[in-house]
Amino acid sequence: MTPDTPVRVRFAPSPTGYWHPGNARTALFTWLFARHTGGTFVLRIEDTDQARNTPEAIENLLESMRWLGMDWDEGPEVGGDYGPYFQSERLDIYRQAMDQLLAEGKAYYCFATPEELEQMREEQRSRGISAPKYDGRYRDYPIEEARKRIEAGERHVVRFRTELDQDVVVDDIVRGEVSFKSKDLDDFVIVKGDGFPVYNFACVIDDTAMAMTHVIRAEEHLSNTPRQILLYRAMGYELPRFCHVPVVLNTQRKKLSKRDPGVQSILSYRGEGILPEAVMNYLALLGWSPGSEQEFFTRSQLIEAFTLERVSPSPSVFDVRKLESVGSEHLKVTDTDSLIELALPFFVELELCADPPTGEELAAIKAAVDLLKTRAWNLRNLAESAIYLLRGEYPMDPKGVNKRLLKHDETPAALEAIADALAQVEDWGLEPIEEAFRTASESGGFHTGNAIHATRMAVTGSPKGPGLFECLEAVGRDRVVERMRKVAGQVRTGELAGD
Ligand code: GLU
Repeated sequence: MTPDTPVRVRFAPSPTGYWHPGNARTALFTWLFARHTGGTFVLRIEDTDQARNTPEAIENLLESMRWLGMDWDEGPEVGGDYGPYFQSERLDIYRQAMDQLLAEGKAYYCFATPEELEQMREEQRSRGISAPKYDGRYRDYPIEEARKRIEAGERHVVRFRTELDQDVVVDDIVRGEVSFKSKDLDDFVIVKGDGFPVYNFACVIDDTAMAMTHVIRAEEHLSNTPRQILLYRAMGYELPRFCHVPVVLNTQRKKLSKRDPGVQSILSYRGEGILPEAVMNYLALLGWSPGSEQEFFTRSQLIEAFTLERVSPSPSVFDVRKLESVGSEHLKVTDTDSLIELALPFFVELELCADPPTGEELAAIKAAVDLLKTRAWNLRNLAESAIYLLRGEYPMDPKGVNKRLLKHDETPAALEAIADALAQVEDWGLEPIEEAFRTASESGGFHTGNAIHATRMAVTGSPKGPGLFECLEAVGRDRVVERMRKVAGQVRTGELAGD
């Protein structure tokens, strides 16, 4: 491998659960590196853990990657020259490598039972050894004897014969040189009792067979890398460049977990209607920075700017509020027509229009999206925030009712007086609305600030939103007047409950 060798990198997930932001971030860095360098991005499915893999997890992963727009050049569905891309279909390849290591004496069979191993660890612990290791009891067991026991059907594993006096240095693009001593690494298992290779073994064989130039993976694998380096050496393989990307933490600076707020499967962000470009943008900032203040990136800007050298060795923090704010930046810059197309399923789901919508409904949706798109962070809350514009019935925020409608005795009178004035406005536009509103409030001796808040609550059901007069303009005169009068009546009769 020379500096000019075209980049080949892989994302190598074990499909054992749903795909969350931490996994996606590692895939994204790998994909961005491939796209930035014009290299090849390979997707390899590490499905050797028969007990934990599920077809649903594979489908979830592929669908998540497709949705985010991380396309793969080789792998499931697309094939390629270095397949198969499922480890479960590569067992013969691992077996050949195992046979070779056994033949060269670099690996050996071990028949220690789980009970024996537990006893061994227990005994070491009792001697004060905090990290007990395999004691090498089958290291020199004659291979002919071993083969006889295997033929007789005895359960066994294959272990790597680790030479004890070696220094292993991981030269990592993000963390620099990290040194390990081989004596701390143990004679680790390479093939399990069920005949399946362990991760470290299969990974080295595949990364070599698939001609990987760089191995980019999560930091949690850094401790596996020295074992892998020993295997590369034993098999005479050339080392790829390693790059371990930092862990993702929650806002309490603990390892990200499914229970953390806002941490969901990638596909549930799709379900909420957060734009995929926004998710990609936010994930890219988890552990990478462009070296400037820029935080908004389109997909192509990310590809252009991304380098592994700018990946930080420090942990990054997943903060759902930050994801929301990046989400809203992307909504803002998406043109209204594309947004409507993306958001229509959410409008349909909330029964704000027919499926497909009528021309009249589309026009109303367009006006709503124009008014509201700067305040939403995903397509679902964009549609939800439009309910008061598109439907006669709309939910009333109970906290807002308390604070904005029930606090001041003058509120119903103010709403009625202002409604009467608005009913007279002929030319329903921003300025005439504001003028009629303020004049009515002042001449009635009402507190205009309170009247503005109360009107917003009455007409939109929410204490927040775009400028009041813009809202009133969008809702339309007759509906505004009717709503203000109706709410004033409900306040008087005590029908309206706060929380
Ligand atoms: N299957 C491993 C994982 O999902 C891959 C690690 C690697 O990229 O080498 O963590």
